[in-house]
Amino acid sequence: MEKCKMYIGGNWEDSGSGKTFTTLNPATGEEIFSVPCADQADVDRAVKAARAALPVWSRMKQSERSKALYKIADAIRENAEEMAMLEVREHGTPYNDAIGVVYGAADKFEYAAGTAPTLMGRHVPVGDGALSYLQREPVGVVGLITPWNLPTIMNAVKLAPALAVGNTCVLKPASINSRIGLKMAEIISQAGLPPGTVNVVTGPGGSVGSALASHPDVDMIGFTGSSETGKQILADAAKTVKKCVMELGGNNPAIIMEDADVDASLKVLGWRQFNNSGQHCSAPGRYYVHERIYDEFLNKYVAYAKTVTVGDPADKKTVMGPLVSQEHLEKVQWYIEKGIEEGARLLYGGVRPGNLEKGFFLMPTIICDASHHMTIAKEEVFGPVAVIIRYSDKDDITALANDSPYGLCAHVWTQNLPKGMKLINDLHVGAVFINCQMLTNEQLWGTSIKESGLGKEGGMEGMAEFTDLKLVCVNYDI
Ligand code: NAD
Repeated sequence: MEKCKMYIGGNWEDSGSGKTFTTLNPATGEEIFSVPCADQADVDRAVKAARAALPVWSRMKQSERSKALYKIADAIRENAEEMAMLEVREHGTPYNDAIGVVYGAADKFEYAAGTAPTLMGRHVPVGDGALSYLQREPVGVVGLITPWNLPTIMNAVKLAPALAVGNTCVLKPASINSRIGLKMAEIISQAGLPPGTVNVVTGPGGSVGSALASHPDVDMIGFTGSSETGKQILADAAKTVKKCVMELGGNNPAIIMEDADVDASLKVLGWRQFNNSGQHCSAPGRYYVHERIYDEFLNKYVAYAKTVTVGDPADKKTVMGPLVSQEHLEKVQWYIEKGIEEGARLLYGGVRPGNLEKGFFLMPTIICDASHHMTIAKEEVFGPVAVIIRYSDKDDITALANDSPYGLCAHVWTQNLPKGMKLINDLHVGAVFINCQMLTNEQLWGTSIKESGLGKEGGMEGMAEFTDLKLVCVNYDI
């Protein structure tokens, strides 16, 4: 088993206590990496290193910082094969997706390098004799806490903008795929950033993540994960009034209207549902399908699910790999059983594929005849499970869609665009996708609606979250 070290202050280190934990290959259940298990003292060292690097990195010319980020993007591309194989082995991402994910991470650094020079302050007119302007500054030492569901991308989407505008960072990746976070540190270490600009500490969220969130010398937390963890982090961060940008849970409605192009909708939503084993924050959590196309939608969804090859993520023919862990697999299976117990119908899947004895695999699953009030439709399942509810003209579809503690995004499919667009104002969510699902580097993501988060990630607005605007006012009429 490969033994890994953490990256603190430009050095590769074991945890101070010498404790370690192991990560697994979800396709086999085998232990693959031994990772340092950090504690409070390790977090303190990482934060101290980030604080010491801040004056150097934050005062560097923007062009120099951007150059360093372009180097990181190049290094990611040069190491793409190795990074993709880590995604395959430690997360279960099918190889073809994993390669795309790694190039996507390189693009994030390139986008941040190119965009940061255009993110400026502004002049504030205050009348004759005085000059006032808003100067944009990095927030400072930023703690980044990431989830397991898209490890390489999640680390890149936070590190790239935070670094581009001059912050120094302590990253705590999800424990389950810690090695992927440490690989990112390895890549960044090749780009010549001042030591301490990026630090990566590994260990359990409840101790290491919490130590970061409550640390008095951390200025900001950038977090992606569940709403429950988000609330704990906010409570920890409140003790020192930290800025927090939180990308949290969702249970996204997909409204399939009577005039939807069913084939086109399944090409997009079916892919979202089963790609990455459904472990996508933007995947539909519940489908409301109009009664007039309900049977057609079910039949075509089953036909689509049958095309999804489940298997070894290293095999280039595989479309869907395993779920990330035994614990998560059991949670998803629990939801399926609960759905059936509460009266929904298992239409397809719901079991381990017969040819796969080891690993955390589940077949693409379709649950139909669900109702809005069932547990499986109310809570975030976060797996390869399409939960389908029939609706009719008598239902208030926006009320159903909005009836959730979450408000991350919504999907709408209709060929009557004016009708679909009328829903935009009524859907209480951070993003509405009509007849598509796309997220580019220029688009932002995230929302401050209900329990789905606080603030934005990605795009110009996401980068701006990592800055503060200092008011400057000078009287020159003296
Ligand atoms: P999680 O909340 O369990 O863990 C996320 C991270 O927080 C991990 O690094 C974990 O170690 C750490 N953590 C756990 N407890 C902590 C604590 N008390 N203090 C500080 N850190 C702590 O989430 P997960 O299971 O890794 O990811 C799945 C969740 O992430 C889902 O709810 C999904 O919706 C959400 N998610 C949201 C988005 C979005 O953009 N809104 C994107 C991806 C995933």
